[in-house]
Amino acid sequence: MDAIVARQHQPVLSESSVPTCGAGQALVRVRLAGDVPAWVSGAAAGAPDGAVLGRDVVGVVSEVAGDAPSGVRERLRKARVVCSPMVACGTCDMCKAGVSQHCREGGMLGSAGVPGSMAETIAVPWRNLALVPEGLADEAAILAGPLSRAVHAARMIRMEGKVFVTVLGDNLASLLAVQAIAKLNATVRLLGWQPEAFGRAEKWGVQHRHASEVGRRRDQTVVVDCVGSEASMDLALGMLRPRGTFILAADPQRGASVDLTPVVRGELEVIGASFGAVADALPMLASGDVETTGLVEVRTRPSEAPRLLSRPELLYVAVEF
Ligand SMILES: [Zn+2]
Repeated sequence: MDAIVARQHQPVLSESSVPTCGAGQALVRVRLAGDVPAWVSGAAAGAPDGAVLGRDVVGVVSEVAGDAPSGVRERLRKARVVCSPMVACGTCDMCKAGVSQHCREGGMLGSAGVPGSMAETIAVPWRNLALVPEGLADEAAILAGPLSRAVHAARMIRMEGKVFVTVLGDNLASLLAVQAIAKLNATVRLLGWQPEAFGRAEKWGVQHRHASEVGRRRDQTVVVDCVGSEASMDLALGMLRPRGTFILAADPQRGASVDLTPVVRGELEVIGASFGAVADALPMLASGDVETTGLVEVRTRPSEAPRLLSRPELLYVAVEF
């Protein structure tokens, strides 16, 4: 079958063997697989040859392992689904405590030895699957994974009194986070460095400005950093008011270092936001509360995917299988 895999640390189209349905797994016939090109490049750079890339998927269940309860098997039979990207073991202390996103043995689709979503058929834990509401297009549903992270970060904001929130970034994560937070009745603005990217927020009625235009006034209650660069983290800490909250909703860039003096002087709270569950994001997509038009910047065939996935300036690339 066709798959987008790493070869010599680059994404390529390759023939790959069809996976079998192991214990705890379901097989999904992929309709659309997608990811952020900048992320795929990083994953491919660290992956062994042949590793399937990609985190997000919309597909149709073709088989469910016999160990799943009969009700689950019936519900998932031939269902159109999306899949949470964080894969958990189900048996460690974190999983048993109900916080499987912090699984000690866990990994993420498309990185660190876990096969990704960009193949004709994939084997994933059936517990990670959520049914796509009828009427929700594949091209919107594919964003349930990235949106789950935005929703997860938004839920970390305490809404006491008047809350001023800044979201930092020009990427897909920031464009989803600013919309999720706007639903919380917070005063939210988006700051970025690339006007053509953050300017998309204009049609959603979200305030947006160039990062260089704002001073470090120490007046923001919460800053959500969706970039994780030295520049973004430094700016975030400089904008927060004393006792403010810094939410880091991106993996910090390799080697990035930041001066933590403002954290101590301002007694700032620092919170990391990883991924949530796709099931939490689907209602927002189905209701239209989050605008996704144009966020899947490119929809393409597998043959074109490696070239497009190598362009880090693209917001998001979806591949039809
Ligand atoms: Zn676990």
